[in-house]
Amino acid sequence: MLQEQAALLGIELVVLDETNCPVRQINQNEKHVAGSFRDPEKIRELARRCDVLTVEIEHINTDVLEEIATTGVEIGGKMKKVPVHPSWETLRLIQDKYLQKEHFQRAGIPVAPQMVVNAGESMSNSLQEASNAFGLPFMLKARKESYDGRGNFKITSPEDFETAVNTMGKFSLYAEKFLPFRKELAVMVIRTESEEGETKSLYAYPTVETIHEDSVCTKVFYPPRHVSNEICEAAKDVASNVVRTLKGRGVFAVEMFLLENDELVVNEVAPRPHNSGHFTIESVPSMSQYKAQLYSILDIIPSSIKLQPRVSSAMMINILGGAQEDSHHSLVDLTYSIYRDSMDIFLHLYGKSSKPGRKIGHITVTSHAPDSNLEELAAPLIKEADRIRQ
Ligand code: ADP
Ligand code: MG
Repeated sequence: MLQEQAALLGIELVVLDETNCPVRQINQNEKHVAGSFRDPEKIRELARRCDVLTVEIEHINTDVLEEIATTGVEIGGKMKKVPVHPSWETLRLIQDKYLQKEHFQRAGIPVAPQMVVNAGESMSNSLQEASNAFGLPFMLKARKESYDGRGNFKITSPEDFETAVNTMGKFSLYAEKFLPFRKELAVMVIRTESEEGETKSLYAYPTVETIHEDSVCTKVFYPPRHVSNEICEAAKDVASNVVRTLKGRGVFAVEMFLLENDELVVNEVAPRPHNSGHFTIESVPSMSQYKAQLYSILDIIPSSIKLQPRVSSAMMINILGGAQEDSHHSLVDLTYSIYRDSMDIFLHLYGKSSKPGRKIGHITVTSHAPDSNLEELAAPLIKEADRIRQ
């Protein structure tokens, strides 16, 4: 999706990923670096071939990114420094969810109360302490390498302690108060930065509602359902305040909980294009999240930028791989056959091999009609996506 935008400006994109990775369907650049993004030497090789580096996954070796940005990478006997956006410092901070939230808390941003959980012998005692402090249920989370709910464990009773020790004991962990939220909201924010690293501008897309099932994002609604404009604007302010504390250029997704008393609490940040911004591809075509990612890292965000959607409503449905490799074909067929007067349907398949629960594509539906109910209009798609996921 980033390559699509780069092509429109004739910007050369070099990718580090496996030989036949999805982007190769539309990127035949012979400078492609085939390998793992976890391999420091491959990352150095990518840096030698680029003027600016960005990432689309935050679980990456930040030591090598720091080295590339500050000392440089050796090429033809000379050292070449390559800017990394967002900053390796931001990536390093965000990689550790506990430290990430400590940082936000220090900046006066509301986050759930949390505490470190000891490893080894004293883990059970630590869980007891968390239970005393936060009550039950509480969340036990891996500090690092977690995504799509992997690394999260909801502790509902002391009987769960033993399973938690057995299944989570090998990770570096923290506990977090369980927040019985009314909604989950998210805001994508674009951050531009001066050469000196100061925030130049922050542009927030409209607030969306995200639905997580089994800790995985399954749907996104623009606008959020049954949430006032006031709260949507407040969420944009919170998200902008969050991103102001980070370093580097790019788009950032800020995930939040909306509590029963309308309080907003920040859950976590993704320093990259994100599920909650996929709706912008069709809804904000003048500046989709991918275009924004490209334009911000190149520092060419136009001053005419406008992020107001061109549609009255949009919904994104994730396509998650099912039990069989072709389980999602029925859903794909349905998107071709379904017709609704007041709804447009956009299918995205990433060209990834299908595995159970893996995000392999998404469907965005939009409407220009001011009062249409996309959830109702797209009900057959939602039902089929849910069926595959079971
Ligand atoms: P991931 O990195 O996998 O996205 P998150 O920490 O965002 O992990 O958790 C995934 C989902 O689990 C959240 O979107 C939310 O639905 C639920 N969740 C996480 N933390 C809490 C919490 N403290 N209270 C209530 N629900 C939570
Ligand atoms: Mg999350």
